[in-house]
Amino acid sequence: MEYLKKIEAFGQAIAKAERFAIITHIHPDGDALGSSCAMVHYLRSLGKTEITLVCEEFPQTIAFIGRNCSPVQGDAAQKAILNADMVIITDFSRFSRSEDMESALTGTRAFKVMLDHHPSPESDKVNIAFCRTEVSSASEIVYYVLKDLCRDENERTRLMGGDCGFCLMSGMTTDTDNFSFSTWPSTLQMASELLAYGVDRKEIISNLYNKYRCNRVEAISWFLSNKLTIRPDGLAYILVSKEDWKRFDLMEGELEGLVNIPMSIGEVKMSIYFREDEENTIRVSIRAKEGWSASDIAGKWFNGGGHVLASGGKLHIPQDIASLEDIPDYLKKIKI
Ligand code: 5GP
Ligand code: MN
Repeated sequence: MEYLKKIEAFGQAIAKAERFAIITHIHPDGDALGSSCAMVHYLRSLGKTEITLVCEEFPQTIAFIGRNCSPVQGDAAQKAILNADMVIITDFSRFSRSEDMESALTGTRAFKVMLDHHPSPESDKVNIAFCRTEVSSASEIVYYVLKDLCRDENERTRLMGGDCGFCLMSGMTTDTDNFSFSTWPSTLQMASELLAYGVDRKEIISNLYNKYRCNRVEAISWFLSNKLTIRPDGLAYILVSKEDWKRFDLMEGELEGLVNIPMSIGEVKMSIYFREDEENTIRVSIRAKEGWSASDIAGKWFNGGGHVLASGGKLHIPQDIASLEDIPDYLKKIKI
């Protein structure tokens, strides 16, 4: 369907619907919160009241993005998806990425709309897909769609100058790591327009980058000194065990960005961060430089996927690997 037809169809479907479920991916990041909460604010601005945000508890480091929104999980979330007139999916594009919610997403008769920026979206599973990869973030996709759904400049100014615009600027800022990558002409245009609408970027930057606890800096310096290996082929990796996580009393999201630090070394072509969590899962984050593919490695070796330069996945203990200590051996098979 052509873009303007999709906007028209989305607007008409929203007008008809009463019960909404908005869902984003598990282990939500700033873009997941920004894009999904922006949709909540938009629907509220239309006077809609039955809106459920299906998302894990917000990690404390990015919870400011979701101020005024309350996420729901488990049975209540599944029910909301199954009973919704409309389900809006942001920042993921394969139903399996919603894990426990996958069966509800597949089973619901709701009108489904997907707004995302990952490769290979499952567009055939939804009624309308706003999916493009040559943008910074899901927040950017949501920004332009909402702008086009607004009837006039007054409505746009109210929406984008308020919580909605704040969420979108935050989501875009985290997914580009403050304009370090995935920054397109449309991204800078969005940022410029949001500033003009009155979004407080200083507050976003202060919340994202200047409010960590001392633990984070201590932990990062320790992991870089003791747990970083750089192979001759340019693969760098860091192992974080659940004991080390506890020892530094870390919170969800507090090591965000650690995977990027080895990328500042000239010889490093790809960086992988392994974190063992409480459920005997090893979470994997991968970053690559231009010319290398993080998503190929994530798909082939770590049950995951993502963008070419930034991907993720996981390994299960003991199904995929006996323990975190076996990672260096496991990596021997992997040619970047
Ligand atoms: P991060 O390393 O920041 O957690 O994730 C980077 C990107 O990798 C995310 O934006 C997402 O696109 C992708 N990603 C992370 N974890 C997974 C996963 O478990 N499965 C898939 N398919 N993609 C993931
Ligand atoms: Mn994203």
